[in-house]
Amino acid sequence: MDELILWKKRLKDKGIRWTKQRAALLRVLLQVKRPLSAQEIFVELEEEGINLRLSTVYRNLNCFKANGIVRNLNFDQQENKFELIKGEHHHHLICVNCEEIKPLDCPLQEFEAEVDQKTDYAILEHRMKMYGICPNCQKKTGD
Ligand SMILES: [Zn+2]
Ligand SMILES: [Zn+2]
Repeated sequence: MDELILWKKRLKDKGIRWTKQRAALLRVLLQVKRPLSAQEIFVELEEEGINLRLSTVYRNLNCFKANGIVRNLNFDQQENKFELIKGEHHHHLICVNCEEIKPLDCPLQEFEAEVDQKTDYAILEHRMKMYGICPNCQKKTGD
């Protein structure tokens, strides 16, 4: 999984040792794609035949938290849930002709908060891509 390799690099950059246990934890968080409690991660791992102690799961999650890999969410009465902190959030503008990709700042933060309020969803993420023809390609088509 490409994404896991990315996280491996992030851990190394932060000086956190890459272990089998940590890889398994990250894999669960990446696969499930929603915030999970330590208990839920523990169960997921067990189902995969990976037997870690719950205390080990906690210890590694706390290590991730201290290093900015995961954040701790407190959903009202529920137990603590952890989610991966993704890199800086931005969008992409893609040229359909030459496939140049430009990053775009996110214009949707307020809208996301609004949707969150109106629907009672806990919004976790959104995605947007814009497609067009870049200035260079526009010049070329004139030939
Ligand atoms: Zn182009
Ligand atoms: Zn955005």
